Amino acid sequence: MMMEGTRFAKVKPAGVLMGRLAHGADLLEELTALCREQGIRLGRITGIGAVTKVRLSFYDQAKREYLPLELDGPLEILSLEGNVSLRDGEPFVHAHMTLSDGTGRTFGGHLARGTEVFACECVVEAYEGVLLERGLDDATGLFLWARPR
Ligand code: ZN
Repeated sequence: MMMEGTRFAKVKPAGVLMGRLAHGADLLEELTALCREQGIRLGRITGIGAVTKVRLSFYDQAKREYLPLELDGPLEILSLEGNVSLRDGEPFVHAHMTLSDGTGRTFGGHLARGTEVFACECVVEAYEGVLLERGLDDATGLFLWARPR
């Protein structure tokens, strides 16, 4: 039997967008603007590309705060993986990235504002059927999905 905090809902595909982001764009802000302009309130984002600088963060579970990780590029985006849901009624993008440098070393984290796109090709899958709204979760201190509606 699933534990009480485990929550899933069935969603239906509602279209797929495929495209690239502008050179020089702020990666997180541009993805958020795309979702808001396209009316995507629930979805999945994947991407590959490169950045000139990256701003990531790491959630310190004991302190309950995001610790910043700032690196200047050039860096390859090996994998951008994220989702779209609602926070305060607006489309909100939550994404993580794995990146590599010129020696092939990899690192990654939670995508933050200030990451500058060199080039980025993305696929955005939109879903419908339920709405997932983020709310403060007492167990983690994070804004997680409340019950689907
Ligand atoms: Zn995260």
